[in-house]
Amino acid sequence: MAVAAATRPDLIDRLAAQTAVRESDQLLRRLRTIEHADGPWLQIGDQRLLSFCSNDYLGLAQHPQLVAALKRVASDEGVGSTSAHLICGHRAEHAELEEALALWTGRDRALLFSTGYMANLGVLQTLLAKGDMCVQDKLNHACLLDGARLSGAALKRYPHADLAAAARQLASAGDAAALLATDGVFSMDGDVAPLRELAALCRREHSTLMVDDAHGLGVSGEHGAGSVLAVGLSQHEVPLLMATLGKALGCSGAFVAGPAALIEGLIQFARPYIYTTAMPPALAAAALAAVQLAQSETWRRDKLSALIARFRRGATELGLPLMASTSAIQPLLLGQAETALAATQALQVQGLLVSAIRPPTVPAGQSRLRITLSAAHEEAHVDRLLAALESLPLSRTDS
Ligand SMILES: *Cc1c(COP(=O)(O)O)cnc(C)c1O
Repeated sequence: MAVAAATRPDLIDRLAAQTAVRESDQLLRRLRTIEHADGPWLQIGDQRLLSFCSNDYLGLAQHPQLVAALKRVASDEGVGSTSAHLICGHRAEHAELEEALALWTGRDRALLFSTGYMANLGVLQTLLAKGDMCVQDKLNHACLLDGARLSGAALKRYPHADLAAAARQLASAGDAAALLATDGVFSMDGDVAPLRELAALCRREHSTLMVDDAHGLGVSGEHGAGSVLAVGLSQHEVPLLMATLGKALGCSGAFVAGPAALIEGLIQFARPYIYTTAMPPALAAAALAAVQLAQSETWRRDKLSALIARFRRGATELGLPLMASTSAIQPLLLGQAETALAATQALQVQGLLVSAIRPPTVPAGQSRLRITLSAAHEEAHVDRLLAALESLPLSRTDS
């Protein structure tokens, strides 16, 4: 016993070795502390940077109505919900927000989770079990993959948006229950999943379709109801709809919307719902204000679309390596991690904050700048970004 224990690895030493490898591969992540945010302007140390990295697509994160709702409920109810939803944490503000989200997305009911990560773990772990099949797009968000792994179901990942491969994988499930999960708008590529085709495939294969619309809600579709509604898919066709409150809605948290039987089952069995503190009621009130603004202020989506078009036009003229995205996520594919990192650093010198996305977040050789646009930006901001990109030694498609 004692001999075996003496050779037992120290866990923190082992972790430190993994970190050292990441550093020598030039893939180390570094935290940046933002001292102050003022719309798209961020203060970091003594530098004021124009940011193109946030997911605040509609520019709502600092909206006075959200701030007022947060303050009002915090004054009346305090900060913490004091407990999980099923004990005494479920407040009127949560209930009201859930109703508004269900109505907006055209679903029977909605259920709040503290984060999108937990919502996806909760749905997949609750619905799937060993012996089932989970089929996913290779570029799905990490938490969808983690949820499937936790569930014990067999996980198959099809090449990005490859319908034929998805069909083969579902067909291979035999009599097993099967779920196909996809991002609505892909978080690192910005393109939209072939949702209609996937819905038709799931209908043919008697499989359940789940769409994670973290980057679609608020931005796509009439009244911003998201990419599923944008192509007119009903609750029958997409029974599992998940989206976050932390992106276009400018808050934090997430929800799952769908048939009443799904929501009731999640309340009973979803561990990341049951065993965690409910989000602060003041945050739910702020999110409700955000939902109302996202629905009614169409100009935010119109402005964002115009900025996206302006950026793509300018980047095309410059021959920059744009990807096939029409969303607010406009990556420039640079290839090597060092190239992406050098571009980020050069942009920062020019007062612009743009994140480099490197492996393992994206496959090796597909490092990129992930540029995100927001209704909080102005045309002059986009022009400034284009001018800075023009000055970088990036590979051009045509110049
Ligand atoms: C951000 C994101 C999540 C996680 O949501 P959080 O609320 O930030 O935990 C899930 N899925 C996708 C596609 C995302 O982009």
